[in-house]
Amino acid sequence: MKIGGAGVRPEGAVVDQFVINRQDGQRATIEQLLDMQRHVLALISRNAPLQESLSAIAHFSESWIPGMKGSILRWEPESGRLRRGGYGSLPGSFAETVDGLVPGPKAGSCGTCAYLNERVISQDVFEDPLWEDFHALCRQYEIRSAWSSPLIASRDGSLLGVFGMYHPDVRPMTDDDEALVDHFAHLASMAIERYRDDAAQQYRATHDVLTTLGNRRLLDEEGPRWLERARSEGGCLSVAFLDLDNFKAINDTFGHIQGDQLLKDVALRLREYAGDTALIARFGGDEFVIVFDESVDMVQARLEQLRESLALSINLGALPVQVRYSAGVVDARSEDAGADFGEIIGQADEMARRAKSDGGDRTAVANAVASKRWKLRTGLARGMAFALRAPDAIVPFFQPIVSLDSGEVQGFEMLLRMRDPALSKVSPAECIEVAEYTGLIHELGRRMLEEAFALLAQDPGPLTGFYLNVNVSVRQLMNRQFLDEVKGLVETYPAVVPRICLEVTESQWLDPNGPAGDLLRDIKGLGLKLALDDFGTGHASLSYLQSLPFDTVKIDRHFVNHVESDPRHRSICIALLAMARSCGMSAVAEGVETASQAAVLSELGYDKAQGYRWSRPMPLSATIDWLTARR
Ligand code: C2E
Ligand code: CA
Ligand code: CA
Repeated sequence: MKIGGAGVRPEGAVVDQFVINRQDGQRATIEQLLDMQRHVLALISRNAPLQESLSAIAHFSESWIPGMKGSILRWEPESGRLRRGGYGSLPGSFAETVDGLVPGPKAGSCGTCAYLNERVISQDVFEDPLWEDFHALCRQYEIRSAWSSPLIASRDGSLLGVFGMYHPDVRPMTDDDEALVDHFAHLASMAIERYRDDAAQQYRATHDVLTTLGNRRLLDEEGPRWLERARSEGGCLSVAFLDLDNFKAINDTFGHIQGDQLLKDVALRLREYAGDTALIARFGGDEFVIVFDESVDMVQARLEQLRESLALSINLGALPVQVRYSAGVVDARSEDAGADFGEIIGQADEMARRAKSDGGDRTAVANAVASKRWKLRTGLARGMAFALRAPDAIVPFFQPIVSLDSGEVQGFEMLLRMRDPALSKVSPAECIEVAEYTGLIHELGRRMLEEAFALLAQDPGPLTGFYLNVNVSVRQLMNRQFLDEVKGLVETYPAVVPRICLEVTESQWLDPNGPAGDLLRDIKGLGLKLALDDFGTGHASLSYLQSLPFDTVKIDRHFVNHVESDPRHRSICIALLAMARSCGMSAVAEGVETASQAAVLSELGYDKAQGYRWSRPMPLSATIDWLTARR
């Protein structure tokens, strides 16, 4: 007898209805069987838990072969064991006993069936050597005969599980039994295959392809659960944020393929040192987040072992490389930790930044002070995002740049001030740092630049005849859209272009051969001037200066401040000026506060300067008054 659409009509079929001879002598129609099948398929298609679908199948199988007890085990290739699947009338204790069964040549009929990947029939378990080790179990659960059928994947023929049927009496398998068993085994295979597909899909959505670590989505899904569990059960929870220090350099030196290989190697080390229970995710390019159910002390110890391991023995091709990282760790259960998981990651990230700005290759652990600062900064970021909705959120201030010889004003540097009363109390440097961190810098920078062009375009206007310096962050230069914005302004206000100078800070690494370098050259090509800000504090070198198209360098006020009192600073001022000159650039001394400083600088050969000596930065109206007063 065969069952199903392509089946052969069984004996005793009535018009338009297949009839099956049930073992209890009752007659049941194919329709009943199809009903059951529909029920199971509905469970599968609405993603019911696998155990529910498999148990329904086991129950149905029992109703077709009276006296039979159905049991479905799931094959788990990762562990090499058979796992609890679905059960009909067998009690939970049986499921527990059998869970974890390892297939073998003498492991009952189910274990042997999985081992051989073929059907195994034991008509009498007490006579069958396969069952020798399981007599007690058989007596306990009244098992006399056992039929075990492998569940096979339709896609590739691999093992999915085992469908076992147990009878309290010695019971051979008839052809009809076989057809029914095949039918139920087929349904069970479908259910497991579907479940595996879903699991595979879920895995792909929550894991990083390159490293096979979790991804951000996994963190978003799992992190809050971990936090909830730790809070309700009172366990430890620590979150670490790791950021590789020198990945960019390694990537640039060895190329992206090797860079990818390195990330894979790092991922392996993370797995090795984070412990079995940690949740590890790749957060961004070379950033990782690890969630531990352990104390901060324990985590620190693990991170130090990891540090040693990474510093010693990673090879790219035949070359050993030292991988270093900065890490931030937060005790998620401490009072100072953020309220939700996202905030805790933000705090750990902030601590990693701190570790990096302290020189890198170290771990910073969040404490009350750091957490408070972090909260202030997130508050600041929110406040800025909100304030920027207003069209007049920004009030540029102006500070004159003068000729040291004649005292004549040549131009102004535009400096950011926020109109919002709370934000105006925060130092501009801090506002800029937060804006860079949150990405608001693009909006801020665009508005400052628009103001500058529009202001100079007023002719006659308050700043006719002067040039304007506008500060630009390296973050802005990383974005090609910035070039389009500048182009747009150049087209709208072509007459003012030669009087606009962009100041770029040197303290942030600006790669002359990278995209930011290209962008600077493009901007220069549009006719704008370029200044290198805070010269002397960053990566100044002759080759650096020569490879970027700056017109001017601005000597950092740190050296200017001590030019009279400290001979070393005086020497640096001389050297920096010589460096600028040799590259054909002019120099501006920043932060000049006194007349005598101005005199010394003039003596050293400086011709332009800026500082409180002439004026503090002031709003436009005060700038106009100041200019009038000087005239
Ligand atoms: P900066 O570009 O080096 O600007 C010069 C800073 O030195 C200004 O601080 C100015 O007020 C201060 N300063 C000028 N003369 C003296 C002096 O004689 N003595 C002392 N002690 N300080 C003097 P401010 O306005 O607080 O700005 C700080 C930093 O914030 C700026 O440093 C710049 O890096 C950044 N910044 C300001 N506005 C913008 C902007 O619109 N965009 C970007 N990306 N950065 C900006
Ligand atoms: Ca500046
Ligand atoms: Ca500066």
